[in-house]
Amino acid sequence: MAVKGGAPARVLRVRAFAKVNLGLEVLGLRQDGYHELRTIFQTIDLHDDVVIHLRPRALDVECDHPLVPGDEGNLALRAALELRRHARVTRGARIEIAKRIPVGGGLGGGSSDAAAVLLALDRLWGVGLGPAGLQPLARRLGADVPFFLTGGTALGLGRGDEVYPLWTQVRAHLVIVAPDRPVSTSAVFARVDQSLTPRENSNTIFRFVSSDLEGLRAFPVLTNDLERAALEEAPDLAPQVRRIRGILVRGGAVLASLSGSGSSFFGLYDDARRARGAQSVLRDAGFEVLRARTVTLDQYRGFWARSLRGLRDARVSNQARSRHHGDHGRQGHPGGGRKAQGLRVDRV
Ligand code: ATP
Repeated sequence: MAVKGGAPARVLRVRAFAKVNLGLEVLGLRQDGYHELRTIFQTIDLHDDVVIHLRPRALDVECDHPLVPGDEGNLALRAALELRRHARVTRGARIEIAKRIPVGGGLGGGSSDAAAVLLALDRLWGVGLGPAGLQPLARRLGADVPFFLTGGTALGLGRGDEVYPLWTQVRAHLVIVAPDRPVSTSAVFARVDQSLTPRENSNTIFRFVSSDLEGLRAFPVLTNDLERAALEEAPDLAPQVRRIRGILVRGGAVLASLSGSGSSFFGLYDDARRARGAQSVLRDAGFEVLRARTVTLDQYRGFWARSLRGLRDARVSNQARSRHHGDHGRQGHPGGGRKAQGLRVDRV
């Protein structure tokens, strides 16, 4: 990576954002053994911090969470290996993950780390595939990985790996309860199979997408078809989920739902004050609660453009950088400190 006027960049710090599924329909089992889904993905500003150091050859990963593997079981390392093989690169990297997204919570942490590594190493190694060129690699890594190359509010079809950004983008506040109890996605799908009836005519996602998202009216049509199977898989969660949903809804949530296959449960609010209210009631009831905001497509693209532009600037002006420390990653919301807003839907 020879760059005029400066030494090659050696370190890149990025955020790997979490997602929730605002709705999820399981349409049936495909011939290849995967499930045919329709889902609405939504990026949120809860994130892992991923730091990537360039290395001559060695490729490894380190994560500060005990449930996350530090070997090839880690999806972020698998992403790096896949890119290296695909692009016939000989360089290496050290990937450090500070885990903040609850593990096994249906919030897509592993998939997001993997997509972040693809985007970052694509630039650091000078491969230059870009998000579109990285799509086939992302699909091989996992059904949720392609979404994180796009971000914002998006429709997921097929295994969830065919991703279409929505014309309308959701701006809202979330309250998330992530029980300290991972639920296995494959076990939940295995239970779904036992009770699956063809649902080609199911149309809640279709109604949501075609409703033009007028204000709050569209959200109550959304459901998550995995919820019943997830609660059968983790029956100890059922009474908690009933309580959590009750509190979220009484607090004014326009949608209260399990994310993915669980175990995280979230409420969506048009107003920060209501979200804070629900958060404090849940805390008083003894739950671990997180608060987040949605990240729109524009905000997500802006975040990645800034992260990768920062890299280019660093390479071009190494000297200048050494005079300005502390420019790694802006703090706060990726929208850039924008004032908190209610639930809005924006045209993209
Ligand atoms: P999924 O639906 O794919 O299971 P999830 O959002 O419910 O995703 P993740 O936090 O991605 O859950 O973790 C699921 C499993 O993947 C865990 O068992 C974890 O050990 C493993 N894993 C591998 N790499 C990672 C990673 N980088 N971050 C989190 N978990 C990882």
